[in-house]
Amino acid sequence: MAKKQFKAESKKLLDLMINSIYTNREIFLRELISNCSDAIDKRHYSSLTDASLATDWAITLSPDAAARTLTIADNGCGMSKEEMEENLGTIAKSGTLAFKQKESAAENMIGQFGVGFYSSFMVADKVTVISRKAGEESGAKWESTGADGYTLAPCETAEVGTTITLHLKADDEDCAYGEFADEGTLTRLVKKYSDYIRYPIKLNGNTLNSMTPLWRKRKSEVKKEEYDAFYRDKFYDWQPPAQVFSAQVEGNVNYSLLVFVPQKAPFDYYTRDYKKGLALYSGGVLIMENCADLLPDYLGFVKGLIDSADISLNISRELLQKDRQLRAIAVSLEKKLRGELGKWLKNDREGYEKMFAQFGNSLKMGAYDNFGAKKDELKDLLLFSSDSGKLTTFAEYVARMKEGQDNIYYASGVSADAIKTLPQVEVFLEKGYEILCLKDGVDEFVVKMIESYEGKKFVSVADKDAAAVTDEQKEALQKKTDDLADRLAKMKDILGGKVKEVRLTARLKSAAVCLTSDSDISLEMERILRAMPGSEGVSAARVLELNPSHVAVEKLTALDMNGQTFADYTSALYNAALLQENLPVDDSAALAALLVKLL
Ligand code: ADP
Ligand code: MG
Repeated sequence: MAKKQFKAESKKLLDLMINSIYTNREIFLRELISNCSDAIDKRHYSSLTDASLATDWAITLSPDAAARTLTIADNGCGMSKEEMEENLGTIAKSGTLAFKQKESAAENMIGQFGVGFYSSFMVADKVTVISRKAGEESGAKWESTGADGYTLAPCETAEVGTTITLHLKADDEDCAYGEFADEGTLTRLVKKYSDYIRYPIKLNGNTLNSMTPLWRKRKSEVKKEEYDAFYRDKFYDWQPPAQVFSAQVEGNVNYSLLVFVPQKAPFDYYTRDYKKGLALYSGGVLIMENCADLLPDYLGFVKGLIDSADISLNISRELLQKDRQLRAIAVSLEKKLRGELGKWLKNDREGYEKMFAQFGNSLKMGAYDNFGAKKDELKDLLLFSSDSGKLTTFAEYVARMKEGQDNIYYASGVSADAIKTLPQVEVFLEKGYEILCLKDGVDEFVVKMIESYEGKKFVSVADKDAAAVTDEQKEALQKKTDDLADRLAKMKDILGGKVKEVRLTARLKSAAVCLTSDSDISLEMERILRAMPGSEGVSAARVLELNPSHVAVEKLTALDMNGQTFADYTSALYNAALLQENLPVDDSAALAALLVKLL
C-alpha cells in the first residue's frame, strides 16, 4: 500500500513534538487516555438524544509484555476513514476542538491542540489505530512508523470505538520502553495522571482510576477522613492537615481548588531549598505536579491542587509559565486563599493561632516584601504578642485603645514576659496602654512598612517623643538640660564615638538610664541587620538617656566632671544601659574591674 505523507510541515512538527514539547515520555499514556475520554464524552453526548448509542463506557488497557505492545481501546465515538485522515494525518489538527466550538455543552473535553496523539511516537516505533465510527458499517485502519508517513485502509471491526496499539521501541540506555507493557507501571501512571478521568480505565477487569475528584465534590459531601487520606497520600505527610479549603470558583476564570494547610512547617520551609507550588490539573488530568507560579511566596506553605478546564493540557512547562489563564487563576487564587485565612481567624482563633505559630512569619514577610506591595491585603491576617500575654490583631488592639491614646505602641526584641522589666515602658503601662511585643526578627520591619493602622501610627516605646509629657514637664526638663549641658557633653566625650548624644528624659520612672535610637534603624533592627552578611557597617544612632530624678543620676551630676569618678560612673551607667537592652558590653573584663573599683 502506498504511503501517504503527513500534511503541512508535519515531519518537522512531529520531530519537534517528540523531542521538545514533552520532556517526559510517560505522559503519552495520559494523552491517549484523555483522547479516549473525549471520544466517550462525544458518544455519550449523542446518546443523550439517541438512546441506542448508550453502553457501558470503558477505556481498556491491554499490555502484552512478550510482544512488547500496549493496546488502548475505548468504546467512544470512533472515527470514520475520512476523520482518521483529517485528525491523525494532520498534526496540530484537533477534531475535539472543532467539536467544542460547535457544541457548547462539551466543555469538559480535554483535547484542543491536536498534538497529544503523536506523543505515542515517544515510546512506540509503530502505531496502529483501528476505529469504527458509531452508525457506520465498517471501520478503517491507520498505521504509521513515525515521520515518514502513514497508511490508511478500510478494515473490518466488530465494535464501535477506537483501538490503538503501540509497538514499543527497543530498550536503550535512555529508557526501558518495555516497562510500558508492565501492569505495575501502567497502574502507577494511571493513578498519577488519569485518576480523575470520569470513565473507568480497566486493566484485567479491574478499574484503576478513582474517577470522581474530591475537589469536584462539595466540602459537606466529603468526610474528613477522605480529605486526610488524600492529603497524606499525595503530600507524604504523616499528620492530617490543619485545614482544608475546597471551592469551585466561577468568574473571569473557572477552576476548582483543593488546598491544605499542614500542621507543621516542613523543616526546610524557611530556606531556599523549599519548593512551593500546587499541582495543576486540567479537567481532572494532571498537567504539572508542582506549579510554583500559582502561589505567592507568602502562601508557599499550602499544599494542594487546582483544576481548570480553561488551562490547556497539551502545553509545555515553559509556555505554561506565561499562560494568561494561569496568571488569572493565580491572582484569583491568592485572593481566595487570603479570604479563607480571614474566615479561619474569625471562626477558629485557636486553630489559626497554631497555624500562625508555624507560618505567621511567612505572612509577615508577605506584608513586608516588595516594599509592602501587599501590606494592606495582609495586615488583618497578622498576629503579634503584647504585654497582655495574648496574641492580638491590629484591629483588636485599636478597639482596646485607651481614651487619649493616639498611637499603637510597640517594643522591639522583647517577649511578653520580659516587657515589664523594660525601663522605658513603665510610663506607658502606668497609663494602661497596651504595648505590642515585637519579638520576631521580621516584626519591626513589618510594622515600619505598614506605618499606621486605622490612622493610628506605630510608635516605638524607645522613640524619644513617644512618652507624652505635659508642657510643665517639658519646661522643667529643658531647664535641667540647660543647667547640665556641660556635663552631658562631657559624658558624650567620655563615651567616645559610642553614643550620638547623652540627654535627659522624662520617660523613665524607676530606671536610671536607657539606650535608645535616634535613627530609622532601631537597636533591634541593628541587631538583625548585623547578623546578615554585608551589613556589618549598619548602625543605629545610639542615644544614652538619663532619668534626672534618679538618685544615681543625681549623684553623678553632683560630681566634679573632670574627676575620674565622673568618668567611671558614666561608663558604668552606659554599660548598665547596654545590659538592659540585651546588647553585648564592649569589654566585659574592664567592666568587671570597674564595678569592683566602684564598690
Ligand atoms: P487533541 O486531543 O488535542 O484534539 P490529539 O492529537 O490528541 O489532539 O488528537 C487529534 C484528534 O484525533 C482528536 O481531536 C480527535 O478528533 C481524534 N482522536 C484521537 N484519539 C481518538 C479516539 N480514541 N477516538 C476518537 N477520536 C480520536
Ligand atoms: Mg488529545
